[in-house]
Amino acid sequence: MDAHAFRGAEAIGGAGGLFARARAQPTYLDALLSAGLLIESGVPGLYGRSAVFEAIGDGLNAAITRLGADQEAEVLRFPPAMGLADFETSEYLKSFPQLAGTVHSFCGDERAHRRLLARLEDRQDWTDQQAPTGVVLTPAACYPIYPVIARRGPLPMTGKVVDVLSYCYRHEPSLEPTRMQLFRQREYVCLGPPARILAFRQVWMERGLQLATALQLPMELDVANDPFFGRGGKIVADSQREQKLKFELLIPVNDGEPPTACMSFNYHMDHFGALWRIGLADGGTAHTGCVGFGIERLVLALLRHHGLDPARWPQPVRETLGGL
Ligand code: ATP
Ligand code: ZN
Repeated sequence: MDAHAFRGAEAIGGAGGLFARARAQPTYLDALLSAGLLIESGVPGLYGRSAVFEAIGDGLNAAITRLGADQEAEVLRFPPAMGLADFETSEYLKSFPQLAGTVHSFCGDERAHRRLLARLEDRQDWTDQQAPTGVVLTPAACYPIYPVIARRGPLPMTGKVVDVLSYCYRHEPSLEPTRMQLFRQREYVCLGPPARILAFRQVWMERGLQLATALQLPMELDVANDPFFGRGGKIVADSQREQKLKFELLIPVNDGEPPTACMSFNYHMDHFGALWRIGLADGGTAHTGCVGFGIERLVLALLRHHGLDPARWPQPVRETLGGL
């Protein structure tokens, strides 16, 4: 985890309520809220979006679809939740217990309902009256597809590409607008033999740079790691960096902060293939990789660099977004 979430969490915990500003100067978040591009909900990292914000996101998605037109990708869309059994198989809780969000509901009888209402009335905690529903919020857009592909049986040796888009949940409340609790990831996921995944990732790193260039955004590509939990997690993160399994395309967005990861290019080796038993035609285990576009982060980068009114953006940028 980088410094953003930590600093945000400190500010949130401080005196003055949820949205107490850590700094006296108006922030980028303040500007977005006053322009009505994002709409406050009272919860850090949970925002409404205006029509303008959504139109930019739609333009990005369409541009990404055009970039991926040659991938013969199967389009799969899921609601932003997964079943508990699939979530357990993913071993997400081993690596990122701090980020996961589970759905709980009231499942009691009338007596239990009276107890629930009494708790509310007395302004006591009522959430322990809720029980797990067996539903978990999707942590990354590609997660729901692995069990689906696994159930279909072995993949051809050429592998395949899947196109996904989902709201994702991560419990990382922050005052930086780029670090939300619910945000969209558009991904292309490649499943197949290792050489196919590496070639796929190389192609997408080039296309990611191409897209950022067409959008006239400053960028750098760098090796990265995921925010693995705990002391053991540091060893895993170091090894991920050493093996160059994750690259990020970074764009400066937040005031006085290091640049923000707006796209990521991941090689999972046989991690998901082995967990889900995704096989290849020759009996081997499929390797997987994905390219992830952070839709909100890219919208925020565009608004940051070209101004809060897309009507005044450079013409070529508007054209890249489908004539916004
Ligand atoms: P970070 O290192 O900044 O936490 P990440 O590397 O964990 O991000 P990935 O898991 O690779 O992110 O997710 C793919 C993309 O989703 C990221 O490149 C980013 O654009 C976007 N993303 C990730 N977390 C958030 C978030 N909390 N809010 C908005 N977008 C996010
Ligand atoms: Zn992914």
